Amino acid sequence: MSDSMVTRRRLWRRGAMLAAAVLAPLVLFAVLSWHGAQRRQRGDADDAARSIESHVVTIMTEAREAAVQLVPLTDLPCSALMPELTRRTAVVPYVRSLNVIDGDRISCSSALGIRSSPLTKFPGMPAHASDHAWATVVDSTPAVPDYPALAIGEPASGGRAVLAFVDSRYLTDLMHAVAPAGAFRDVELRIGGGAPIYASGEPPADAGDLGAPLAEHRFVAAGMPIVLRVYGLRSQLFAAWTALLQQAMPVAIVLSGLLAWLYCQRQRNFGSWREQLLRAIRDDEFHVVYQPLYGVSVRGCHGVEALLRWNRPDAGPVRPDVFIAAAEQSQVAVPLTRHLLKLIAADVRHWNTPPGFHLGINFPAEYLSDEHFPADLRPFLDAIADRQCQIVLEITERTLMKNTQQARLNLDTLRADGVKVAIDDFGTGYCSMSYLEMFPFDLMKVDRGFVMTIDPARGDAIVLDAIISLAHQLKAEVVAEGVDRPAQFDYLLARGVSYMQGYLYAKPMPSAEFVAWYARAGQQPFECGETAARAPDNVIGPGDAHPTRG
Ligand code: C2E
Ligand code: CA
Ligand code: CA
Repeated sequence: MSDSMVTRRRLWRRGAMLAAAVLAPLVLFAVLSWHGAQRRQRGDADDAARSIESHVVTIMTEAREAAVQLVPLTDLPCSALMPELTRRTAVVPYVRSLNVIDGDRISCSSALGIRSSPLTKFPGMPAHASDHAWATVVDSTPAVPDYPALAIGEPASGGRAVLAFVDSRYLTDLMHAVAPAGAFRDVELRIGGGAPIYASGEPPADAGDLGAPLAEHRFVAAGMPIVLRVYGLRSQLFAAWTALLQQAMPVAIVLSGLLAWLYCQRQRNFGSWREQLLRAIRDDEFHVVYQPLYGVSVRGCHGVEALLRWNRPDAGPVRPDVFIAAAEQSQVAVPLTRHLLKLIAADVRHWNTPPGFHLGINFPAEYLSDEHFPADLRPFLDAIADRQCQIVLEITERTLMKNTQQARLNLDTLRADGVKVAIDDFGTGYCSMSYLEMFPFDLMKVDRGFVMTIDPARGDAIVLDAIISLAHQLKAEVVAEGVDRPAQFDYLLARGVSYMQGYLYAKPMPSAEFVAWYARAGQQPFECGETAARAPDNVIGPGDAHPTRG
């Protein structure tokens, strides 16, 4: 898989994770609000059903009571019974009329008097009304035809029964009041086996029209089984959802912002340095830039120093001094250097440099004192053998070297193999004089700090002069670092410095740029000093993307 594909895939993954962090609370709150709205709607329906239930029980119990009290009087003639029927109809709440059934006819009625009507006139009435207690809904009553009523029958002796009619309007009004049409779709009440009563007054056109009930109560009233169903309105559910969403969304938005921020923070500080660096190696986030070295003897580019760069896809470049120090402290310096060698080997294959071209590589102290170091380096040396580069090991003392004896042995082995050793950052706190005693070396790299002390007006830089003279006495060639002004160049040249490294000659550049630069300018004589520095061709070097030093 190509680098760009890996990067793109990673960016996609991170984008998806970020989107998930933002969306998760919003979706969660939306779903919770939806369930909350459903629960609230069901709760409201249940409350309504409970209220209707208690009223239905009261109405039916009153009517049944009125009928039961009349049972002992049913053998009286209708004329004697009438005043009592009328009186009770007036005083018992909800009852429209009280009647006596004799066989298959209503023989006496508080509404119609002595007139006898066959039961068949009232569809839904049971055929044997005097057999047992019953209740049903009928479409009409003797006094109010075509208007439904609740009929409650109580058996009496001699094939007679008492029948109480309750106006169904009581029931529909009750259902309306408790479960209004704006809040609920409809309420259905089934008493015994009779036709259902609807709050809307109209049975639905289609049986499934009302959908599933929000609440269903089954109970017994006046000895009759009752089923009560409350049906919800979809618009009410959405209104409840919207109301809940309005309450929940500000919290959800804050939460999703917080999650997104936490995710970004976590990405930034993902795991420890160790994890981050190892992951970056795996994900191929490193590349190498090469800074040309001016060689006085060849009056042009005599070599390069390889400098590692880490460009994080999500956070941009990381300063080398930061990640190198972190790698050294988190025991990743060795795997990182192995990775660096692989990157260099891949780059060097495309170069067109002459034999003996210096290739300076920075090695951490930990690696130098590792007994496997020379063997580890072998595949790299073999891989670039074709180019016949002069490998220069740059060693500095950033972390304490644990096994100096082993390091010395390793350097001896490698030097015998033709590798050169440079003491890097000489003169800084990093690299003490003890290194000179301890390790064999060929080059001494004088730190930029000393080069900066060159003052053309004063004409000398005492410590720098002493370092250069010390190096010469130790038979080491001197590399001056950070040479970025012609006056420094002239000064160092006059004191026998062999190599200059600095922005005056060239900045660090990626391998492909270096190849082009080397073909164009690297092999040209660099006319040093004040006059040369004014010639633009000689000072240019491709810009370094590196953020730390200017
Ligand atoms: P160093 O080994 O002393 O590398 C030279 C540093 O000086 C580089 O900084 C380079 O960009 C900078 N430099 C060169 N010429 C000039 C100049 O004229 N002016 C200024 N201001 N700076 C100049 P860089 O690349 O930031 O590296 C910093 C340090 O990080 C290096 O110092 C080295 O100690 C470490 N480092 C970089 N790459 C590697 C690596 O691959 N392995 C190890 N172990 N350390 C590395
Ligand atoms: Ca170096
Ligand atoms: Ca250095």
